[in-house]
Amino acid sequence: MHSEFLQQLQSLTESHAILFGDDTAKYCLDQRRRYCGSTLAVARPNSVQQLSEIAQLCSRYRIAMVPQGGNTSLCGAATPDESGQSIVISFERMNRVIEVDADNNTITVEAGVTLQQVQQAALAAQRLFPANWAAAGSCQIGGALATNAGGVNVLRYGNMRELTLGLEVVLANGTIWDGLRGLRKDNTGYDLKQLFIGAEGTLGLISSAVLRLYPLPTAHATALIDVGSPTAAVALLRQLQAQVSDRITSFELISRPCLALLQKHFSNLAQPFASLPEWCVLLELSDGGDSEALIEQLAKILNDTGFENAYVAQNQRQSADFWRLREHIPEAQRLEGVSIKHDISIPVGDIPRFLIECQTQLTEQFSDAKIVAFGHLGDGNLHYNLFLTETSSLIYQHEAAINAIVYQLVAQYNGSISAEHGIGQLKKVSLTHYRSPCELALMASIKNALDPLGLMNPGKVLN
Ligand SMILES: Cc1cc2nc3c(=O)[nH]c(=O)nc-3n(C[C@H](O)[C@H](O)[C@H](O)COP(=O)(O)OP(=O)(O)OC[C@H]3O[C@@H](n4cnc5c(N)ncnc54)[C@H](O)[C@@H]3O)c2cc1C
Repeated sequence: MHSEFLQQLQSLTESHAILFGDDTAKYCLDQRRRYCGSTLAVARPNSVQQLSEIAQLCSRYRIAMVPQGGNTSLCGAATPDESGQSIVISFERMNRVIEVDADNNTITVEAGVTLQQVQQAALAAQRLFPANWAAAGSCQIGGALATNAGGVNVLRYGNMRELTLGLEVVLANGTIWDGLRGLRKDNTGYDLKQLFIGAEGTLGLISSAVLRLYPLPTAHATALIDVGSPTAAVALLRQLQAQVSDRITSFELISRPCLALLQKHFSNLAQPFASLPEWCVLLELSDGGDSEALIEQLAKILNDTGFENAYVAQNQRQSADFWRLREHIPEAQRLEGVSIKHDISIPVGDIPRFLIECQTQLTEQFSDAKIVAFGHLGDGNLHYNLFLTETSSLIYQHEAAINAIVYQLVAQYNGSISAEHGIGQLKKVSLTHYRSPCELALMASIKNALDPLGLMNPGKVLN
């Protein structure tokens, strides 16, 4: 049966669009090298029609589909399972920017366009597409939508859900749903696009999207500040919000172990501090005025707060140097070895207490624990990673115990065990403990309604 299916699959596209055997290897291994699956073939359609025909064929033969964008998922969401019974659908050839509409402030793109390409196309039209994170050059819009990704500018502009006006989706049976509308007001029944955003490819295949653009800010001011403690960081955020309102674009918290890892693995990246602070904040303001004035305003505010070690970038190069520090934290961790990672969110004001309590509980049980915490404090989102003396994958034997401590505390604070990376394979079991039976049943009924044969990205999120 598989050979008949594969023959028909090949007849739907150009021959080079379907990959087999060794050519599929990179599509079967996840970003963190935790999951290694296997696949019948990788299909790389270059149009929504081809995508629809592939889905129809899969539906007829009951072959599961694993959508894959840039394969930067940090929770194994885009990796096929080990059965070798599914196909991977790669969007890498659906990579056209369809339209930039400067009047409507929208951009319409196919799912395989990278985040960086969207940013650049917007810039060419003197507009801003504000979503940004360290994988911008490789992650795709389809993947960013399917994970409702966030990044460093969520505080001001929201995550992918807020940045999306319309979608085109190929359903599990191959039907094309055309919801490619660039409307900011549309109250005609259920907002269907929201079902597919954040569904991690378990409900349908996103083929194109209409995304919001914003006026291009002309002024930026960036600062790196030794704040001493998370409590002081939260107070600074509150004060800035009172003084400069929504001009705060990013507000990132960085702990000392992050800076120490940067010093160790990226000694070429200069850090302005004479000695490493326990906690620092990297923040950015932006608006439509003049950079010099904004830099001056930020410097004055920070001066008035009394922080002794506050460095305000005087030009774009210094600002880029500060941001490079933040962007290299994930890679510095990778070079250090294997860690247990958490991507959690809790209400902003509770973060200082959470950090103290969680560290106390973890070090009681794991005396060698080194906690590398950083993240988007303005959104209440922490990347909370734990290294033990053991830095190989043997550390995973402690994962369940470590997760139990972190997640139970997150639950006590009414937080989330996945702020922005999603569930994938990694947190599938945890999801069943931290979402209520009512929520899980609703999710299961939506899944069943849209994918009754269970063909969309099996083994991820729910089952
Ligand atoms: C260095 C680094 C930094 C990161 N920083 C952040 C961050 O700050 N914030 C954040 O939110 N994430 C971050 N991520 C995680 C990751 O980049 C995002 O989740 C990203 O948006 C995934 O996009 P992708 O194209 O790589 O998707 P993939 O990894 O290929 O897929 C992710 C999920 O989307 C599904 N999918 C992919 N394309 C489609 C489609 N067209 N239709 C339907 N489903 C689809 C897949 O099946 C899978 O479930 C980071 C990752 C790395 C490696």
